[in-house]
Amino acid sequence: MEFSLIEAITRRTAQAREDVVLGVGDDAALLDVPAGQQLAAAVDTLVEGVHFPKGTAPADIGYKALAVNLSDLAAMGAMPAWSLLALTLPAPDADFVEGFAQGFAQAAAPYRMALVGGDTTSGPLCVSVTVHGLVPQGAALRRDGARQGDVVMVTGTLGDAAGGLACLDRSHPRAAALMEAPEALRAALLTRLNRPEPRVAAGLQLREVATACIDVSDGLLADLAHITAASGVGAHIDAAALPLSSALLTLFPEQATALALGGGDDYELCFTVPADAAAQVSADLARLGCGATRIGRIVAGEGVRAFDAEGQDVTPPRRGWEHFGA
Ligand code: ADP
Ligand code: MG
Repeated sequence: MEFSLIEAITRRTAQAREDVVLGVGDDAALLDVPAGQQLAAAVDTLVEGVHFPKGTAPADIGYKALAVNLSDLAAMGAMPAWSLLALTLPAPDADFVEGFAQGFAQAAAPYRMALVGGDTTSGPLCVSVTVHGLVPQGAALRRDGARQGDVVMVTGTLGDAAGGLACLDRSHPRAAALMEAPEALRAALLTRLNRPEPRVAAGLQLREVATACIDVSDGLLADLAHITAASGVGAHIDAAALPLSSALLTLFPEQATALALGGGDDYELCFTVPADAAAQVSADLARLGCGATRIGRIVAGEGVRAFDAEGQDVTPPRRGWEHFGA
């Protein structure tokens, strides 16, 4: 596609790094992986109408396209380094590209991440971002290390992004009440939906202590089930312990717990630690700003179940967002 579009993106996202031998402009980027480090690589695609509603601001799309990928690196305990951007646009649109690049650069800036290449094509709006991060040999967080007796923890609060999405849904059963709710509360939830904060610093902090880790993209129950399946264990969630924001509790007093268990797009880290490490981890992550809450434990067996304060099984039948309607 037009050189001017590529230039518009890379002008805003330029970031000098010594480990980029050759960035945008050749057939491929050349990158130096430092000795003793492993490369963590991930790709995530956002399709208009599927991963973000039509009408989402270009800057929010650019920000989120990179942020969801940074969240994957966070879940591995990797330090973000380089990205590649495959952008498909219906038509050359300078305003879109300008906004998009601004949001993308905003997500990259805290990590001095360099955009080192990409592809620009025409077609239905679709954004695919590849990220590379660095992690010391053997130190990456994985899904397969949870052990019976470990504590399950989660950063931040859950369910906010799903609450934000519900605020945009005009056919939502509570649409009328939501429209009249204080704007600040709606805005708080929409910010969580449009501007997720990748928990990179938390992931780095957890390298030495977490036995398993995943980022919550599809919903807590669905994502924790990936940890239990990979680790050959089960998990019990204490629904009363789920960290819920005051905005979510105020706007969705009845549904908050269900949104926290099943709602996607939160991009918090769900992880397991040995029980005797939980208090220290809480303190360490509180210092980093996101905090971490103990929400359950790893048990023998398989699968994830949630229980209320009375010990009643409250596991909802549908577990988060599943692709292709499965
Ligand atoms: P090629 O035909 O060799 O694949 P292109 O003409 O598609 O190269 O792209 C030229 C250069 O611009 C390449 O270095 C490529 O990585 C970069 N590039 C293309 N599109 C983007 C984009 N959306 N973001 C960042 N870099 C891009
Ligand atoms: Mg080429």
